[in-house]
Amino acid sequence: MSRFWSPIVENLAPYTPGEQPKDRVFIKLNTNENPYGPSPMALEAIRNGAEDDLRLYPDPSATDLRSAIASSFGVTADHIFVGNGSDEVLAHAFHGFFSGKAQVLFADVTYSFYKTFCELYALQKQLVPLNEAFELEPSDYRGTCGGIVIANPNAPTGVAIPLSGLEHILQQNPDTLVLVDEAYVDFGATSAVRLVPKYENLLVVQTFSKSRSLAGLRVGFAVGQPQLIQALRRIKDSFNSYPLGRLSLKGALAAWQDRDWFDETRLRVMADRDRLAERLKTLGFRVLPSSANFLFVSHERVSAAKLLADLRSEGILVRHFDQPRIENFLRISVGTCNDCDRLLAVTVDLVGQAG
Ligand SMILES: *Cc1c(COP(=O)(O)O)cnc(C)c1O
Repeated sequence: MSRFWSPIVENLAPYTPGEQPKDRVFIKLNTNENPYGPSPMALEAIRNGAEDDLRLYPDPSATDLRSAIASSFGVTADHIFVGNGSDEVLAHAFHGFFSGKAQVLFADVTYSFYKTFCELYALQKQLVPLNEAFELEPSDYRGTCGGIVIANPNAPTGVAIPLSGLEHILQQNPDTLVLVDEAYVDFGATSAVRLVPKYENLLVVQTFSKSRSLAGLRVGFAVGQPQLIQALRRIKDSFNSYPLGRLSLKGALAAWQDRDWFDETRLRVMADRDRLAERLKTLGFRVLPSSANFLFVSHERVSAAKLLADLRSEGILVRHFDQPRIENFLRISVGTCNDCDRLLAVTVDLVGQAG
């Protein structure tokens, strides 16, 4: 703390990202990165993009990328906003739609960045408990509020909400913006993008970080009706006119167009996830049904804190959240087939010893 800090900085509790060890010895199953590399076409586009025109500012409205995303969703480019990672897009949405309004509703167990955004922008929040199965109950989202935020599938649980549940929430709250964070949707949940033309209160946010293996490039986007996208653009142009550099724009465009790579890698992750889930269940784990590239698990005898430490000493990083209801769960990102096998081999020993 310092006397130069503003009161808002003093009171911030910033989001803590998962550890990124510098020594590469670990099998990293702690930050939901994709174990497979980005599309080779994206890498080539980025390499080819390292040329003299980097001296020029990039296209501030990212027209080519937005048009490509729009056309695969069957909407026009004025329905798409792009930003420097979906965290930035979410931050702009919190700022642009929830500031100065009543409390923002989101689940008690969800992406912890939502709380951080509320602090950053001085918003009131109201946590809505998930049910015992960590499912979201659509009927809990009603009444006066300033906004609703839903991660689908949810993080860190991986549990998806069916589109009918989302539609129920959209219909119950026609005067409230419903922000749907679909960071993991490509691993098995149903996207709400198709509902965008029908609901003017819906904004869907997706990212290139997970299913397109480009966490290092920082590209995310929002899909919504044009008047919502205009609000995001007003915020962006009051903050940073050029959130995406030339290399990011080129890499993201090529990754978006390489549908084959996208499908091949995400299907592999989904198959390994389902195999890993079945094996972990036979070892005495409760495994929540996951539609994401990670599993949220809890063992009947061995505590999550102990497993976390023991896996770490065996060279495997997973994520633990020290917060009510989930202190005995671990979130395990689905790695390569070999990563999953190694995790299982080590885990068999750890829980075997305990039993
Ligand atoms: C990873 C993640 C994001 C953010 O991803 P970016 O890398 O900033 O695009 C957003 N929401 C959830 C729930 C996530 O897990």
